[in-house]
Amino acid sequence: MPVDNDVARVLGRLGLLDPAAMSEVDMQALVERAVKANRAYETWWLVKRLGEMLCLVAAPSCGECPLNAACPSAVCPPGGKKPKKPAAVNKPKAAKPARKKAAAKKKR
Ligand code: SF4
Repeated sequence: MPVDNDVARVLGRLGLLDPAAMSEVDMQALVERAVKANRAYETWWLVKRLGEMLCLVAAPSCGECPLNAACPSAVCPPGGKKPKKPAAVNKPKAAKPARKKAAAKKKR
């Protein structure tokens, strides 16, 4: 079962491998021990496809990822988008002109 960059990145983000500390041969040996031979191609294909379509290098689409709930590297909740930045300042609301007119009518 080949462990290329896509497979190493996905399995690394899932916490199953440590691509920074392991050689490609070590990662391949570990994966081959963990996955049954009759499931190897299917597993490789699913992981590879996840790495090409969702778990991208720069901006993973974690909100759409089926492994989101189990992934320690997920950047947003399942089905969610990246959290928005909170508003920097809460500006006071400007007085509405309609209220001024109503207050003026009451004084009359
Ligand atoms: S949840 Fe995000 S980081 Fe984890 S495998 Fe899916 S796309 Fe990659």
